[in-house]
Amino acid sequence: MPLHEQAICIRTTDYSETSQVLRFLTRGSGIVSVLAKGSKRPKSKSGGPLDLLSEGQMVFSQPPSGAMGTLFEFTETVSHLPLRADAGRLDTALYMIELVGLLLGEGDPHPEAFDLLHNALVRLGDDDAPLGAVLAYFQWRMLRHAGLLGQLSRCVECDVPLDQGDRKHGSYFSSARGGLLCGSCGCRADEKTSVSEVAVSGLAGLKVARGRGGVSLSEAEVLGVNRLLSYHASYQLGKPLRMARYVIR
Ligand SMILES: [Zn+2]
Repeated sequence: MPLHEQAICIRTTDYSETSQVLRFLTRGSGIVSVLAKGSKRPKSKSGGPLDLLSEGQMVFSQPPSGAMGTLFEFTETVSHLPLRADAGRLDTALYMIELVGLLLGEGDPHPEAFDLLHNALVRLGDDDAPLGAVLAYFQWRMLRHAGLLGQLSRCVECDVPLDQGDRKHGSYFSSARGGLLCGSCGCRADEKTSVSEVAVSGLAGLKVARGRGGVSLSEAEVLGVNRLLSYHASYQLGKPLRMARYVIR
């Protein structure tokens, strides 16, 4: 039985002269890899090879054995053309799909992650999109979705509310624990990274933003949050993201 899914292409690999192996984040089936036979032919149903970030309706088969599925049809329904026209936006989008591909395993449905990525890509295509803030919000939500970030208002070690804790010794983040440490716990912890005050206030701002639907952080807060969350992602994944050096300044 062919499956129908709304999907975003997150990786493309040449398979042969005429075919590609494509990895998609689908809304209902999570991440799937499929062989797209003949997709590189100009007269293929998709009109040529599929690009990263292509979003549309896919029809495919998925063998229960876990072997690679087959793509029968892909119809683009959302054009992300505006974000392809600008290197900064494109790099940010490529960083996002790289993160998604590394954080989520194949086979589990992640509708929330799909919606998060879709909305972020649409937002990145807007002329007035604040790239850094869109990325900060995306990283924060994605890492939370993957279970790699705890709540950030209390020390992960001693549970003291961070705004009441020891701040004269600075603020720290523990990637192993996925949360912030108060100054005294931070001084004692083996694994930690020092966190700027702007990153701490930026993280608090993201939490507020979720309720309001918009992110209003200062440029310094955005920078602090993006650096910290990218560091955390690479710590958890055991390697830096390939796109990080183009996107995280
Ligand atoms: Zn503490």
